[in-house]
Amino acid sequence: MAQSSSDAGRDCPRCVRLVAFREAWRSKQPDWFNAPVPSFGPLEARLLIVGLAPGLQGANRTGRPFTGDYAGDLLYRTLIDHGFAAGTYAARPDDGLTLLDARITNAVRCVPPENKPNGQEIAHCRDFLRATIAEMPNLAAIVALGRIAHDTTAVALGQRVSALKFAHGATHEVETLTVFDSYHCSRYNTNTGVLTPQMFRAVFAAVRSYLNARSHVATTPALSLGGNTG
Ligand code: URA
Repeated sequence: MAQSSSDAGRDCPRCVRLVAFREAWRSKQPDWFNAPVPSFGPLEARLLIVGLAPGLQGANRTGRPFTGDYAGDLLYRTLIDHGFAAGTYAARPDDGLTLLDARITNAVRCVPPENKPNGQEIAHCRDFLRATIAEMPNLAAIVALGRIAHDTTAVALGQRVSALKFAHGATHEVETLTVFDSYHCSRYNTNTGVLTPQMFRAVFAAVRSYLNARSHVATTPALSLGGNTG
């Protein structure tokens, strides 16, 4: 079977509501990106971070995941501190920041109204997530930011959601890789103290330890992505 593309293009027609929202913002803000936001970072990375969806005035405006979003301040600072990014994060796609052994994608590529994708939109966009996972030959770890990212990642990996329960700090072994759960680094979660910078850092410290330990063992075969793909 032909492998589907991880690239949604600029005019993905799959979600009626998201297309209408995108078109409205293209009219209102023609200089914004206003399209499905592609993944950021090298294909060869061992780490994939799965966010929720672009913020209206953040990734949807700039075209790079988490860039210009409140959540990006904590995410990129944490990635730099753990050696997963180099340079300076300046909330602009031309800030020169590079990801090291890490890649960032979103469960849903288009900005949803009120930051809330619905179930059908998440399911439609899962093909892109599945293809993103499949095209990373060295993938060893996934950080899922929030329950929606966790659940859609679980299904994309052929798992039953009920078998892989989301909890902040939890890890799940799926074939040759490990899924690390974190609360989403959203403004709401950080302002309410649901997620502190220390809690977030602890997740990436765990990922770093895990990847360091793996680099001392023999290469494992690539993920086969079998099982339930629905
Ligand atoms: N921006 C993104 O790109 N993804 C998120 O999950 C939040 C903000």
